[in-house]
Amino acid sequence: MDKKVLIIGTGLGGLTTALRLAKRGFKVEMLEKIDRPGGRLNQLKKDGFTFDMAPSFFSMSYEFDEFAEDCGIELPFEFVPLDPLYTVNFAESDKRYVIYRDLKKLANEFKDIEPDFERKMTAYLDSAGKFFHDSVDLVIKRNFDSKLDYLLTLAKVPWGHAPKMIRNVWQELDRYFDSEEVKQVFSLVAFFLGATPFDTPALYSLLSYTELVHDGYHNVKGGMYKIVEGLVDELEKENVKIHYNTEIVDFRDNGQGLKTLLDQNGKEWQADDFIVNGDAAAFRGNVFRREKYSKKKLDKQKWTLAPFTMYLGVKGKIDNIDHHNYFLGTNFKDYANKIFKNDVSLKKPYYYVNAISKFNDNAAPEGHENLFVLVPVPDLRNKPDWADTEELANNVIQDLSERVDYDIQNNLASKTVLNPEQWAGFLNLYQGSGLGLAHDLNQIGAFRPSNKDEKYDNVFYVGSSTVPGTGLPMAVISSKLVTERITKKYGTV
Ligand SMILES: Cc1cc2nc3c(=O)[nH]c(=O)nc-3n(C[C@H](O)[C@H](O)[C@H](O)COP(=O)(O)OP(=O)(O)OC[C@H]3O[C@@H](n4cnc5c(N)ncnc54)[C@H](O)[C@@H]3O)c2cc1C
Repeated sequence: MDKKVLIIGTGLGGLTTALRLAKRGFKVEMLEKIDRPGGRLNQLKKDGFTFDMAPSFFSMSYEFDEFAEDCGIELPFEFVPLDPLYTVNFAESDKRYVIYRDLKKLANEFKDIEPDFERKMTAYLDSAGKFFHDSVDLVIKRNFDSKLDYLLTLAKVPWGHAPKMIRNVWQELDRYFDSEEVKQVFSLVAFFLGATPFDTPALYSLLSYTELVHDGYHNVKGGMYKIVEGLVDELEKENVKIHYNTEIVDFRDNGQGLKTLLDQNGKEWQADDFIVNGDAAAFRGNVFRREKYSKKKLDKQKWTLAPFTMYLGVKGKIDNIDHHNYFLGTNFKDYANKIFKNDVSLKKPYYYVNAISKFNDNAAPEGHENLFVLVPVPDLRNKPDWADTEELANNVIQDLSERVDYDIQNNLASKTVLNPEQWAGFLNLYQGSGLGLAHDLNQIGAFRPSNKDEKYDNVFYVGSSTVPGTGLPMAVISSKLVTERITKKYGTV
């Protein structure tokens, strides 16, 4: 196979596609806007600390195994299964709910607030699990050539699941549980999709099944960036060259299809096929300048919450914190409904903390903690001005210090803050949205920007902005789907 494929972006979707194609004999080259690989799956080394910049755990680990098998390699990193999965802390309460995979232990956590928890949770998970198994191979891990093809396939999913398309995650939980706290805890999976349980279809209750029953959550030995380092090593063995500090900003169409893309310095990049790993909607708008993806049209779509992230190195060890922790405030429903629109004060925001130093000794100098703090906040459409970045950072540090009973502010050995404006500029995240287009019914499947370009038959897309959706396992599935498209085009296996 002497076909040359140029991949634009070295996120997880780009890297895994590069290896799948290189192993099939394609000549693969990669371009990357920033000076290192990984995209959102990145790393920050500072003041003796090694921070994972965004993803901190993942489900469906077997998608990585399938990828390794497809490429004929040993997986170049090691999973660390998480159990317990995470803790949830409510404001104005000392009780910390520990989310165990073992249902009996989990039921014990909620025995005082939700009688008969085990039976209720079993029923909830059975229903979510049935939907997962009835849909994952049929709908999620498949390419669709048209909306009709997609809708006809959807019709094959047993009709008993149809109400999950109409209800939202919160309404689904409400059918099984009475306690507000229990509903809040198990609706957090919607935030993993960058949205709220009140606007995420109940289909995604399947995430509770994947976390608690199916595969749990995993981290990686030595930190999440080991995934990227391992993949880049494998790509080197296949002579895949990566050109950094190279951003594609334009294209040349001589009327005979697309043969050339141009970077920020006007340098021309040619190939037989192009695979875009940058945002599939924004790239069509910004680079191909398509009217359907103009800023005006994209702004009207539903985007996921933006990240406000902090990377804190702390002197001393903090006892009252686990490896993965959620800190919720008061007025859950009101907060969830207003946070997107920037209608709620960020004085006491909801946030998530990953203390990676709890299980990875290399992440922090001895006797220190490494904290990654993620505050879901409005994107740049709703909050363009981030002059209050320092104030918000201090609010969260203050709140966290009180809740874990440790003076973090006065023990800071390292502090880095990234607001949505910085995230947007860093990796071309549209309006700073952390997980791209939301997963509403009209933005998934054949309604999501396709992995096959509508105009050029040699342009494809990969990653969480196209099908099937966001998150690390989905990016890996996405690489499988785009590889299928290309191998089908050339009639190779
Ligand atoms: C704060 C945060 C926390 C997250 N936590 C988790 C988690 O715990 N678990 C999980 O599974 N997922 C998580 N995610 C989601 C996960 O990070 C993404 O779904 C996944 O990493 C996206 O991979 P991707 O292949 O789509 O590429 P991306 O990571 O988006 O990478 C795309 C690459 O393309 C480059 N690029 C863009 N445009 C151009 C251009 N024009 N020219 C050249 N290069 C370009 C970018 O610089 C970037 O390197 C999180 C995301 C965020 C932001």
